[in-house]
Amino acid sequence: MDAVAADLHAAGLRRGDRVSIWLPNRLENVVILLACSRNGYVCNPSLHQNYTAAEIVTLLSRIECRALFAQPGWGADAATADIFARAQELGHMKRVYALPPLRAADAQMPAASHPMPMPAQTLRMAGLAPSTHPDQIVYLAFTSGTTGAPKGVMHSDNTLLANGRAMVADWSMNEKTVLLTLSPMSHHIGTVALEQVLVAGCELVMHDPSAGVAPLDWIEETGATYVMGVPTHAMDLLHVLSKRGAKRLGAVKVFYMAGAPIPTETARRLMSLGAKPQNVYGMTECGSHQYTKPADPMDVITSTCGKSCAGYEVRLWQPDNPDLEVLPGEVGEIAGRGGLLMLGYFNNQTATESSFNSSGWFLSGDLGRFDENGNLEIVGRKKDLIIRGGHNIHPSHIEEYAHRHPAVKKAAAFGVADERLGEKVCLAVIAQDTPPGADEILEHLAREGLSKFDMPEFFIVVQEFPLTASGKILKRELMQWVSSGRL
Ligand code: ATP
Ligand code: MG
Repeated sequence: MDAVAADLHAAGLRRGDRVSIWLPNRLENVVILLACSRNGYVCNPSLHQNYTAAEIVTLLSRIECRALFAQPGWGADAATADIFARAQELGHMKRVYALPPLRAADAQMPAASHPMPMPAQTLRMAGLAPSTHPDQIVYLAFTSGTTGAPKGVMHSDNTLLANGRAMVADWSMNEKTVLLTLSPMSHHIGTVALEQVLVAGCELVMHDPSAGVAPLDWIEETGATYVMGVPTHAMDLLHVLSKRGAKRLGAVKVFYMAGAPIPTETARRLMSLGAKPQNVYGMTECGSHQYTKPADPMDVITSTCGKSCAGYEVRLWQPDNPDLEVLPGEVGEIAGRGGLLMLGYFNNQTATESSFNSSGWFLSGDLGRFDENGNLEIVGRKKDLIIRGGHNIHPSHIEEYAHRHPAVKKAAAFGVADERLGEKVCLAVIAQDTPPGADEILEHLAREGLSKFDMPEFFIVVQEFPLTASGKILKRELMQWVSSGRL
């Protein structure tokens, strides 16, 4: 870490300068993050594998990036081969580092690049987070871009570590914990995993899909006790597990899933394998996981994400008037305040100001409701709400019922424009094996208890969903697929 920090300084970087990482899940992500924190540089880890060279160059220019760490051959697009040359051409870029691929010792390194100065190290990183300016920006993560263009979110050491401390305390992690992240370090979930490891002094394992080892084998080989990812990870793992007829999920005690609701069936099957599912609600702006306290009993685990973590307060405000709180039991916009909250959006004062209400609460854009025990149920995004003829329909409600059908692997409900009603409801599913018919699905939804006011008008079976780089379903793109007649 010292060597990297010193080399960046020698290259001319100074406090506040931006450093970007475009790497698979490998140890150097951690080293670069900590080196930035040490010298007060701003680390941007949000370059995803499937970005094209043009997208990366645009982002590097937008943040006037001064140093880039990248791995030749990383990236889905063949054009990324020239990212080294293109990044060097940017007037603000001072140094481009190339890291040899982990499994190709004889890889050709780009001529324009600089080797990263770092000896091999162990993953145990406890206690290595010195920073002399803990309230200044050291981290710039981009949101997933699910509802619009990704926004740059600024964090300091203190906002990040406040989150790590709360999670370690709430989830009873200690130095014996082995925390495996299935999410890429380019997503905020990966960084949140690192925060906990720094606080707990435990072992971090980062799953690297390019290693060609299935997540299940990775879980078994590393002895992971806690796993972090998104519900899709769990669903895919369960698919493999049932094919293998396995009775346990390695040594996993807790499976944390953030970013999207967990279908009840997924949670139930995890429980039967001895791994407790935890619905984690969070977002890039809130140090990711403001709602983490384990909920019990099981029905609460699946329908809510428990209570807010230490040091963070949450209230619900009226969706059309965010200065008035809702009445108990009503759905409102989730808003919070506390030490883990972002410093603001990068170069976007307007977005920063409009995301707070008049009394300083950060408005998440998500809708939720407290149950009688104060557990928070996530109802969905304000932007995803389907309004059909004046009636509010929450897509997550329909999806939850659809997931209970054995032939449904993944489901997404969304609104499609309708001249008379404003919107109608479309349900799209990916089938497990044999696709279910529309009548069968509608009957199933009715049997499960979906009211006729929420019933979809359209049903489609698709091979795949359009996803964000972090694996979230891009509903606005699904809507376009339907309205352009592609489906
Ligand atoms: P953008 O802000 O660019 O539209 P994004 O909101 O998807 O993208 P992230 O910060 O990665 O970017 O994701 C946070 C969002 O994910 C939350 O605001 C919420 O809508 C959703 N989310 C997170 N956790 C959960 C959960 N447990 N259940 C349901 N939704 C969740
Ligand atoms: Mg968001």
